[in-house]
Amino acid sequence: MKLRVLGCSGGIGQGLHTSSYMIDDDILLDAGTGVGELSLEEMHRLKHIFITHSHMDHVLSIPLLVDTLFADLLEQPLLVYARTETIKILKEHVFNWQLWPDFTELPNKENPSLKLVEMNPGDVVDVGERCIEMVNVNHTVPASAYIVESEGKVFAYSGDTTTNDNLWNRLNQYPRLDFMVVETAFSEEEIELARLAKHYCPSLLAQDLKKLNHKAKIGVSHLKPGDEAHIFRQCNDQVKGEHELCHLVTDDCFQI
Ligand SMILES: [Zn+2]
Ligand SMILES: [Zn+2]
Repeated sequence: MKLRVLGCSGGIGQGLHTSSYMIDDDILLDAGTGVGELSLEEMHRLKHIFITHSHMDHVLSIPLLVDTLFADLLEQPLLVYARTETIKILKEHVFNWQLWPDFTELPNKENPSLKLVEMNPGDVVDVGERCIEMVNVNHTVPASAYIVESEGKVFAYSGDTTTNDNLWNRLNQYPRLDFMVVETAFSEEEIELARLAKHYCPSLLAQDLKKLNHKAKIGVSHLKPGDEAHIFRQCNDQVKGEHELCHLVTDDCFQI
């Protein structure tokens, strides 16, 4: 499978976009501001969006994308997969006719342009050759990671999370892990904030990586704008070469 990083930053700024990762040319994991990097033609190929949690930096391009593609989606709706709690939040706070029209009823309820599909931890959705499993993680709102298996290769995306056992235990049950994107939103100096906001900082990440039995290449994401080099250096210091870390940037592409 092919992975393209559309957005991997903890915020916005020139060249910085929030979380969105494209698998091949038809699947998105999260729909942060990075989706705006795609050409119209590339957007038209998107059919499936898997959302990790309801926070704005991971969902804000969904309403704009549906609006942009509306005419196209009359034939085949855009499928957005998320856990029950996340769908409830999207319906109540985004697609509520006030912040944005309810595209799950447009042009009509029978043939909507957007379908919100319930997917909960443990569920697996097959999209062609790609098997995508949702795994529960530990954040301030109900949140998930995704593990994508395709042609014997395994890719994992942590979404937003702090210390947990579940994701690492589940990954250890897979025969291999080829590449993983994992967040480290805060620096070591901000460990208390990381605990409160339920994100990783370098030492919390390093402690959890010890739970992983696979040797995988790890792409570090969700770094705070302006503090990227500092946080990434601290990640390398903490992980001490036990895994190969790479500092993700917009438009990175990986063949997995
Ligand atoms: Zn979050
Ligand atoms: Zn986030």
